[in-house]
Amino acid sequence: MTKHADMTESMIPLYRQILEAVGEDPEREGLLDTPKRAAKAMTFLTQGYRQDLSEIVNGAVFSSDCDEMVIVRDIELYSMCEHHMLPFIGRCHIGYIPNGQVLGLSKFARIVDMFARRLQIQEQLTRQIANAVQEVTQARGVGVIIEAQHMCMMMRGVEKQNSSMRSSVMLGQFRESQNTRQEFLKLAGL
Ligand code: ZN
Repeated sequence: MTKHADMTESMIPLYRQILEAVGEDPEREGLLDTPKRAAKAMTFLTQGYRQDLSEIVNGAVFSSDCDEMVIVRDIELYSMCEHHMLPFIGRCHIGYIPNGQVLGLSKFARIVDMFARRLQIQEQLTRQIANAVQEVTQARGVGVIIEAQHMCMMMRGVEKQNSSMRSSVMLGQFRESQNTRQEFLKLAGL
């Protein structure tokens, strides 16, 4: 059995217990396959733990003499907060200034997913993405901004339906130069 199948299998009885604990009958028709489906979903949503950066990037770093800021905007982001295991969803904007090499466009989204598909806090997720882009591209600077809405705020507790959280991490030139930072914010449409 694969590692993923093992994980799914081990979570099935646990989801069954959760159904019982909330007062449901796991034997009723609509719920018969729910523990299995939920376990599969959780395995998928946490697959970032079983990925690594070099496998994700897979050689898609190309030499280039581009030294202007590159921006990848509006990368969809779906993660789960580590405090409540509830989703937070939003958008991620990444900017970097190449230093002799560029990263294939689709890889930015893959990097975001790799870190988002773990239990997270938004600030840490933002930093991990920035560090990963820096590590892979050796860029002169990297900026990452995440805007997200947290279900643990919206569905429970304070129930603030419209609050969203913005976090940012600036490295290298993005940190040192206010002009660079402002250019990034402008190009990212913020
Ligand atoms: Zn939370």
